[in-house]
Amino acid sequence: MPESDHEVAMEDSFSPTSPDLVVIPVEENQSTTCMPIRDPYMLKFLDKVEPVIKNNWLDTGIVNLAMKILKLQHPHIGGLYCSTLGGSLEFPGATGQQWLQIVHDGANHWLLIAKGFSLPEHVLVYDSSPGVNVRQHVLSCMASLLQTPKRTMTYIVKGCQKQGNSFDCGVFAIAFATSLANGQDPSEIMYDPAKLRDHLRTCIDTELLSPFPSTYCRPRNRGEKIQSTDVFCYCRRTDYASDCKPASLEMVACDIRGSNCVLWVHKMCDDTFPVESNDSEWYCKNCVPR
Ligand SMILES: [Zn+2]
Ligand SMILES: [Zn+2]
Repeated sequence: MPESDHEVAMEDSFSPTSPDLVVIPVEENQSTTCMPIRDPYMLKFLDKVEPVIKNNWLDTGIVNLAMKILKLQHPHIGGLYCSTLGGSLEFPGATGQQWLQIVHDGANHWLLIAKGFSLPEHVLVYDSSPGVNVRQHVLSCMASLLQTPKRTMTYIVKGCQKQGNSFDCGVFAIAFATSLANGQDPSEIMYDPAKLRDHLRTCIDTELLSPFPSTYCRPRNRGEKIQSTDVFCYCRRTDYASDCKPASLEMVACDIRGSNCVLWVHKMCDDTFPVESNDSEWYCKNCVPR
């Protein structure tokens, strides 16, 4: 199910250190697509898990379940949040030296973003079907997770194996995440596409994600691209410069622009956001504490 069909109900607060993993599967006869669970830090919702068959596009249920298993096996790895949070750009900041997150790009495609692996300074993107540029939706999710204090977010699109069809993105994203969690660099691995789904089924059945079948190593850094984008606001996210930008992500500029100034602030991130653009001068709370 596309993420746009999900309704996300954020709770007022969450504990980024909570170890609880409380998952309530949605029963078949329930009409709602999502349901809240007690701990919003981890898996707030879990769609019904559809079986992995020969050629289905993986739904959010199986992707979330895979991330839940990985989190239980590797509790020191941050991120691995419920992917549904990305649909409304509400990922909390990822914690820990290393983090992983499978992200839906808003257009029926899954990819993996990661930090703390191989090039620990930068966010890494592992995409089995990359476009010319990383989509704005993914960049906004990435910035939500990273929350860099810098004015620019640098990320590296890693060269990795490409899917040979239109439906294997989720399988590859899970395989990439599993490799990283087990100390392997997916850019050095050639997976065996014919065996990935059988392996995933076994992993789900045993609730243990082990490295996916691979045949040989590929050269490092093949096709690697270093890119960057500006981030803004107290939330340190992108401006989401897209035709479908939500109104809540409109921004206003601070009129002082001091040394601690965030320059631009999202409407959703400051209650004092001016109603009209021609209102009198406006200052961000870094420049004029309130
Ligand atoms: Zn913001
Ligand atoms: Zn300011």
